[in-house]
Amino acid sequence: MTLLQRFLDELYQRYHTLGDGTVASYIPELKKADPNWFGISVVTVDGRVFGAGDIQQKFTIQSVSKVFAFGLALESQGRDTVLEKVGVEPTGDPFNSLIRLDEDSKRPFNPMINAGAIATTSLIKGSGPTSKLNNLLSMFERYLGHEVFIDMPTFMSERSTGHRNRAMAHLMLHFDMISHDINAALDLYFQQCSVMVTCQDLAMMAATLANKGKQPVTQKQAVNPDYVRDILSVMYTCGMYNRAGEWAYRVGIPAKSGVSGGILAIVPGKAGIATFSPLIDKNGNSVRGIRVFEELSRKYGLHLFDLSMGRCVFSKATQDTSES
Ligand code: GLN
Repeated sequence: MTLLQRFLDELYQRYHTLGDGTVASYIPELKKADPNWFGISVVTVDGRVFGAGDIQQKFTIQSVSKVFAFGLALESQGRDTVLEKVGVEPTGDPFNSLIRLDEDSKRPFNPMINAGAIATTSLIKGSGPTSKLNNLLSMFERYLGHEVFIDMPTFMSERSTGHRNRAMAHLMLHFDMISHDINAALDLYFQQCSVMVTCQDLAMMAATLANKGKQPVTQKQAVNPDYVRDILSVMYTCGMYNRAGEWAYRVGIPAKSGVSGGILAIVPGKAGIATFSPLIDKNGNSVRGIRVFEELSRKYGLHLFDLSMGRCVFSKATQDTSES
C-alpha cells in the first residue's frame, strides 16, 4: 500500500464521524442525501487512482459544473467575448448573491457564482437547446471518460424552485448580459448542475485539468490547453465563494465546491483531488472536505506558494510503500 493510500484511509477514519454542517435543502431533491456519505479520491496525471470511503456514490455535480462550463464557453466564444459578459473578480459574497453586478460593466463578477455561471452557460455554442445540451454533455464525457446522465428529479426540483436564479437571469437580461431566451439559458444551467458524478469522477476531471486538459486515462483532450490557465486562475480566486481567500491561504490550490457536497481541486502537473460529503457549512462548502484538504495540503506541501517542501513529497507518497 502506498503512503498516500494509507493517509487517505487515515483521513477517512479521522473525519467520517465529524457531524458539523447540514445537508442542503433549498433544492428539495438534495435533502434526500445521506449525511454519512463521505469519500476522498485522488487521481494522478498518469491515471493512477487512490481513494477512501464512498468514492463510487453518485450525486449531482451542482456548482462544481461551473468550472467546466466556463471552459466550454471560452472554447465556444473565445476569451474576449466571454469576458464582455462575465468578470474574473472575486465577490466575497455567497454563491447565490443576487445584487452584485459590476457597477460599470454590469457584468456578474465571476463565472463561479450563480449569476456568472448562468451568463457563461448561455454562451455555450449550439443551434438550439438540444444541440447546446449535447455539447455540454459531450464536454463532461471528455473529462469523465464515460457516458454521463442528468438526474431528472434534481433538474425538475431546481427548475421549479430556482426563483432566485430566475431573478438573476432577469436582471442580467435587463442589462443585456444574457440573450433574451432566459428560460433556455436557465434550463441548460439547471441541467448542468444535475449531471451525475461520483467522487472518483470529480478527481478524474480535476486530474484532467492538472494534466493540461488531457484526460489521464483516455488521453483525449477534454479542453483546449490554452484555456486551462484561465480556468485555474478563476478557481483559485473565486472557487470557494466567500471562503475563497481563507482557502487560498490555508490550502493554496485551485478548487471548486458545490452544495451537494463535492469539492475538487487541482495540483497542477501532478493530480486531481476530490472529496464528497453532503454536510455543508453556511458558505455552501463541505465541512469534512475542507478539513481533508487542509490536512492533505499541509502534509504534502501542496500549497502553490509552499516553497519549503516542494511537491515531490506528494509524488513520492503516490509511489513509496516505505515509511520515511
Ligand atoms: N444549482 C445550484 C444553484 O444554482 C448550485 C449552487 C451550488 O452548488 N453552490 O443554486
